[in-house]
Amino acid sequence: MSAVHDAVVLGLGVHGSAAVYELATRGLDVVGVERFAAGHARGSSHGATRMIRRAYPNPVWNPLVERAYAGWERWGAADGAPFLHPTGGLYGHRGDGTMQGGRSAEASAVEQASIAPSLRLPEGYGAVHDPDAGVLEASRALAFAQRAAARAGAELRFEETVLDWSVADGVVTLRTDRGEVRARRLVLAGGPWASRLLPGAEGFFEVWRILTFTAPAGQAIAQPDSLGCFSADLPEGLVFGLPEAAGSGAKIGIDAGPVWDPETPVAPPTAEEAEALAALLRRFVPGIDTAGGEAVACLYTMTPDKRFVVGALPGAPEVIAASACSGHGFKFGPAIGEAVADLVTGVERPDLAFLSPSRILERTA
Ligand SMILES: Cc1cc2nc3c(=O)[nH]c(=O)nc-3n(C[C@H](O)[C@H](O)[C@H](O)COP(=O)(O)OP(=O)(O)OC[C@H]3O[C@@H](n4cnc5c(N)ncnc54)[C@H](O)[C@@H]3O)c2cc1C
Repeated sequence: MSAVHDAVVLGLGVHGSAAVYELATRGLDVVGVERFAAGHARGSSHGATRMIRRAYPNPVWNPLVERAYAGWERWGAADGAPFLHPTGGLYGHRGDGTMQGGRSAEASAVEQASIAPSLRLPEGYGAVHDPDAGVLEASRALAFAQRAAARAGAELRFEETVLDWSVADGVVTLRTDRGEVRARRLVLAGGPWASRLLPGAEGFFEVWRILTFTAPAGQAIAQPDSLGCFSADLPEGLVFGLPEAAGSGAKIGIDAGPVWDPETPVAPPTAEEAEALAALLRRFVPGIDTAGGEAVACLYTMTPDKRFVVGALPGAPEVIAASACSGHGFKFGPAIGEAVADLVTGVERPDLAFLSPSRILERTA
């Protein structure tokens, strides 16, 4: 019989990596199991940058957002250089703006022009300004969490697929394509594969193929003092954009795409899809040069209410769900790692009730 570890984490995207890092630095004996190689592009966490913001539509998110900002500070201090590059952000809206949080406030057209002179929101849109929005160095952060977890004693197993899991007498057994792993706690951070890994979740999660386009870097028009983060809800979906930061060019994407089976490698963007996004970026940032830019495909794991699923599974306290996406999960990486480690070590987290896994059974009942 294999040893019984304190915890095993399934999946080493940003949330699984944050969990192994946090558990290992708290001195637990933890194993992370990932079906692909480090740095793979089959899930949701690949790519150079991600947006972070305090502006959120619902105040229920505010405490977790604060934990996220504090977490990025901690990670940056631990790695010796910040992961978060403050740029500010303008969040465009038709009608009344709902974005709130931190120092967010409605900005007049005159204020918008001075905050982000390069940005052109659609005619008639208002905008909420979040001075604390910024760009995260995503790929560097993912590599840091995995490296620091291993340095703190975690065992990271790549290119090993978990086939199934079971619980008996308080011990979880994972059967993999290379053997088995046993532990007192299991963290399910399988991203787009969540509906296959969480009991009764078939039909609760929906996976979308999402595209982004990044322009060549080195353009004055896209520097943070001219262009912050932005979004605008268009009929075709919520458009989101990031300025240049940490050597990466300005980026744009839309929160909409076809349903996708993650077992099938996500289809790379076609030339037409890339040009459509480049044109969209030129519409929001007139004058930006998009020649030589790059389009990338990635996956969202959507829930019906766009809230995450984080917490112990009903009837299986040994198993912690850590599914945090719906297109806005990366910024919460350090906070999800902290939350999972608290739950694994028995620290009560009533603040996470709005992310309860019981919503799955309620929904699919
Ligand atoms: C294009 C795009 C832009 C985004 N922009 C932003 C943004 O600006 N700001 C923001 O906050 N968020 C953003 N997000 C969302 C964010 O990136 C995701 O919420 C986050 O990366 C989800 O991480 P994860 O760890 O849950 O999933 P993943 O990174 O997909 O990790 C899950 C891992 O589990 C592994 N796995 C699955 N099944 C098994 C198995 N059986 N055995 C072993 N391993 C398994 C997978 O291989 C994978 O590596 C964006 C997402 C996309 C796609």
